[in-house]
Amino acid sequence: MLDFDTAQSRLAAAGPAPTTTQEVPLTECHGRILAQSVTATLDLPPSDNSAMDGYAIRHADYQAGGSLPIQQRCYAGDTPEALEPGKTIRLYTGSVMPEGADTVVMQENVTEANEQITINQAPTKGSHVRYQGEDVRANTEMIAAGTKLDAGEIALLASQGMATVTVFASLKIGLLTTGDELAQPGQPRTPEQIYNSNSPMLAALIARLGAKPHRVLHAVDTPEAITKAFQTLLDECDLVLTVGGVSVGDKDLVKPTIEQMGGTMDLWRVRMKPGRPVALAHAQNKPIVCLPGNPVSAYVVFALLVAPLIRTMQGRHTVLPSTRYGRLATTRTLGGSREEFLRVRVHGQSDAMPTIEPHTDQGSAIINSLAWANALARVPADSSIADGDTITFYELAECLA
Ligand code: AMP
Ligand code: MG
Repeated sequence: MLDFDTAQSRLAAAGPAPTTTQEVPLTECHGRILAQSVTATLDLPPSDNSAMDGYAIRHADYQAGGSLPIQQRCYAGDTPEALEPGKTIRLYTGSVMPEGADTVVMQENVTEANEQITINQAPTKGSHVRYQGEDVRANTEMIAAGTKLDAGEIALLASQGMATVTVFASLKIGLLTTGDELAQPGQPRTPEQIYNSNSPMLAALIARLGAKPHRVLHAVDTPEAITKAFQTLLDECDLVLTVGGVSVGDKDLVKPTIEQMGGTMDLWRVRMKPGRPVALAHAQNKPIVCLPGNPVSAYVVFALLVAPLIRTMQGRHTVLPSTRYGRLATTRTLGGSREEFLRVRVHGQSDAMPTIEPHTDQGSAIINSLAWANALARVPADSSIADGDTITFYELAECLA
């Protein structure tokens, strides 16, 4: 059985990086992966401008109790005149700084009457001015290739005047759930059945990564149904994820079916809990990851082993989640022969050593623990840890970004 870290790095390298790119409108690029680094062409802001509603002055013209005539009212978007000596120009937030002015006095510190102002508080030279290029400098790299585009990056691109951006083609992921006992949500259920919760759960996890569940299928536990589903998914998708049917029961037919189809088994079973029965295979030159059926196992395996592979195939610059440290708060002693990943809540995220509270039920079928947790804590194999011990954890927000 493979150890967790080896499995994680093997999976992270199990698929190709993307080669196809496409130009998409900025309005449709959210969640897409930037294919080429973007270098700024404009200084941002493009010129010195006012950070306040106020008055532009030459600082040297200020005298306590003195007054300055208003030369011009210059709204945001207007062209300012050059500031004449001994005068002021009325500005608003975003108005371009007049040539000759070096300071903005906020309007709250000014009395205006008869087209002149008196300043009620000595201004600091250079205050309330936003300087050209203080945010972004032209000719510097603004966003690295392989970045997943979120609202902040989209704002940067738009602020450069870009209406389109070059991203990698969307990774197409096929999803196959298996099991005779599963009913689809919205359909009637016999007393022996449970609802298929993995399918919508995994579709949501895939979407969080900015990828697409391109095709979602369900197969009953027969080689024929599973083969047929694989044929469709391998034809249409770049990566296939299966759930369930990959253990050692009579009805665990996913592995034998892949082998039957001429696929190669790259790894099977990882020394981790939950999630031991996980497999990596290739068929038609495409990676297939087989996840265990228990919802918690499927979630944990997705977050720690599948998400890095997806990020690799999306062309991301960072694929593995970072390890953090916290202090365990528990009444039990934890640890076993396998690497264990606890569903936990991390309290006091800003602290150097946050507190880690495990969910009270660590069973691999306890879906509640998934809705509750914000992190996965890692208990090393062949170790024993207890209350107050330092433990490493992965934030789910980062694992699934
Ligand atoms: P399996 O690996 O197929 O034996 O599945 C292990 C456990 O996970 C069984 O209790 C299954 O009923 C359950 N399971 C498998 N697939 C799903 C699914 N898509 N949604 C919810 N539970 C599932
Ligand atoms: Mg099954």
